[in-house]
Amino acid sequence: MSEDTNYQLLIVGAGPVGCVMAERAATILGWKVLIVEKRNHIAGNCYDMHHESGVLIHRYGPHYFRTNKEELLQYLSEFTDWIPGDYFVKVSTRGELFPFPINLLTLRQFFNRPEMTAEEAAQLLEEKREKIENPANSEEFVLSRVGRELYEAFYLGYTQKQWAIHPRDLAASVAGRIPIRLNTDERYVDHKHQVTPAKGFTEMFKRMTDHPNIDIMLETDYTAIKDKIKPQFATVYAGAIDEYFGCCYGKLPWRSLDFEFKEVAQELVQPCVQVNYPNEHDYTRTVEIKHVTKQQHPHTVISYEYPKAEGDPYYPIPRPVNKELYEKYKALAEVETQKNHIYFCGRLAEYTYYNTDEVIERALATFNTIKNRYVHQ
Ligand SMILES: Cc1cc2nc3c(=O)[nH]c(=O)nc-3n(C[C@H](O)[C@H](O)[C@H](O)COP(=O)(O)OP(=O)(O)OC[C@H]3O[C@@H](n4cnc5c(N)ncnc54)[C@H](O)[C@@H]3O)c2cc1C
Repeated sequence: MSEDTNYQLLIVGAGPVGCVMAERAATILGWKVLIVEKRNHIAGNCYDMHHESGVLIHRYGPHYFRTNKEELLQYLSEFTDWIPGDYFVKVSTRGELFPFPINLLTLRQFFNRPEMTAEEAAQLLEEKREKIENPANSEEFVLSRVGRELYEAFYLGYTQKQWAIHPRDLAASVAGRIPIRLNTDERYVDHKHQVTPAKGFTEMFKRMTDHPNIDIMLETDYTAIKDKIKPQFATVYAGAIDEYFGCCYGKLPWRSLDFEFKEVAQELVQPCVQVNYPNEHDYTRTVEIKHVTKQQHPHTVISYEYPKAEGDPYYPIPRPVNKELYEKYKALAEVETQKNHIYFCGRLAEYTYYNTDEVIERALATFNTIKNRYVHQ
């Protein structure tokens, strides 16, 4: 780090939000920027690293980069080349592996009707689905689309393990994110661009922040420096919003995960990057990221994900009571932005499930807000 502590912008958190914000402020505005990050690495939850075997792993869960936005992809392409993202998921249920999300191939296999056409599948789902007009929760949502048999085989157990909450107590939008297809498209997501950084996410964010105007202090919590370093213009805070305010209204609940990484002396083990286990084991899914990174290596690493209540905050829990609590913090944050020039942006700061492309868009939008407030043309 340079001796000069005369920063125009202070950023808390070196995740996607922090790195994008720093790059934009340094490149477009010529500002001097300091990022403080409490972990010992950049890239936030997108962090990938080499396991002791030499296999590249996604340390905080698999990251499947996808976007429909050409412009966003172009921007990130300044810092990385891409390789195709082969995002395929299977579900282990009833002793077989089925393609997921549910599509025509899944339905043919599940109902043992190998010749079933799309029209017949639509008819079958119409017969199976429960006629619920306005689904009020995740259970009703799935029942209203595919009926009880598929709900119990594919969704119920997975949701309970993942959230430790019954699907009837979760917002309909949680299940609503997963498409159901009547064609043979087996891809996990629908987006136009499904790619992964050729050398990994960490490398991409490293290149993004490799700028003479950007300093990064790792293993430094915001609380340790906030009274010492006062930026000239603004602070972008990508940490947890409740922590910023000393949890004055109580803690916002998060779902966390334990990751267990196991090396196997084999090139590949699974048929695809991810296998979900709704009804067996304590873990929810196993991930073999080599299917996506295409790394050439004689060994592979499988990660096992065990959901838990305490630990690093990974998923905000989508329940109305939590949203209400967040809104109280958000009101405080708005005052803080106006009075003290602190901008809250990102997954932790907005208590919102954002994918990486979405959070980068948030960062770009926040950058524009900051530019408009502090830079006079
Ligand atoms: C298990 C899992 C799977 C995911 N899968 C996908 C996927 O497949 N595709 C996809 O697009 N996205 C995925 N995501 C989402 C992606 O990780 C996020 O969208 C993205 O990382 C959010 O960026 P961020 O900068 O807001 O937050 P983060 O990446 O969480 O970064 C915030 C950083 O701030 C630091 N920090 C927090 N508080 C402080 C403090 N007080 N002082 C200093 N530093 C602090 C943290 O250590 C962290 O490094 C997944 C996320 C998880 C958890």
